[in-house]
Amino acid sequence: MRKPLIAGNWKMNGSRSETRELLAGIQHGLGEGFPFEVMVIPPYPYLQLAAGLVKHDGLVLGAQDLSPHAGGAYTGEVSGAMLVDCGCRAVLVGHSERRSLHGETDADVAAKFRAAVQIGLTPVLCVGETLAEREQGQTEAVVSRQLERVLQAAGIVAFASAVVAYEPVWAIGTGKTATPAQAQEVHAVIRAQLASEDATIGGLVRILYGGSVKPDNAAEIFAQQDIDGGLIGGASLDADSFVAICRAA
Ligand code: 13P
Repeated sequence: MRKPLIAGNWKMNGSRSETRELLAGIQHGLGEGFPFEVMVIPPYPYLQLAAGLVKHDGLVLGAQDLSPHAGGAYTGEVSGAMLVDCGCRAVLVGHSERRSLHGETDADVAAKFRAAVQIGLTPVLCVGETLAEREQGQTEAVVSRQLERVLQAAGIVAFASAVVAYEPVWAIGTGKTATPAQAQEVHAVIRAQLASEDATIGGLVRILYGGSVKPDNAAEIFAQQDIDGGLIGGASLDADSFVAICRAA
């Protein structure tokens, strides 16, 4: 009932030629029909190039961030409408690197989530705790707070067209993966929080796991009841690895 989704967050990597190569490799590897959805999330300058190369309807183009504003004097910012215009159907919101390196607050993330929904982009809302927060037993509290701020700002109905990604900060790019049981525990908390507002939406929303997912650990993570796919960083830059992870969904 929930179609698995595998999203590749390229972060600040690539070039025009690498974008061409990676997309060709992914599409060749995936073939014509696949029973899951795939998302690629290149840097802004390569979105339009990528949009022209995507051939399959099941391959969705996403961006890594958006402005909460619709337009105007916001130097360096990119609006949701521009992303739609460039062929995007989705956008990451509140990635931990935006929160920690660019000072995005829960309120900023909520405003971006709303902006995405308003323009018709699927927001992929990223939540997750730091190592210190996990060690202090704060995991549930942190993730619930991050989710609650967005729920308050956008309402549960907005989640009917959203995706949530649980990315424990300590597992991103570190080679340390949450165990399938650790990830499932947090995914169940996220789903229960959404379901407490609307059982149908809570049951249907896709919740992805992110943090050092690789071809050799993907299957056991994706096998968990409340894990509907993954948000992949490093391993999404290699077509064969990314396709292998997709096939594990
Ligand atoms: P890694 O897969 O490189 O750990 O990155 C995860 C991530 O941050 C995806 O958004």
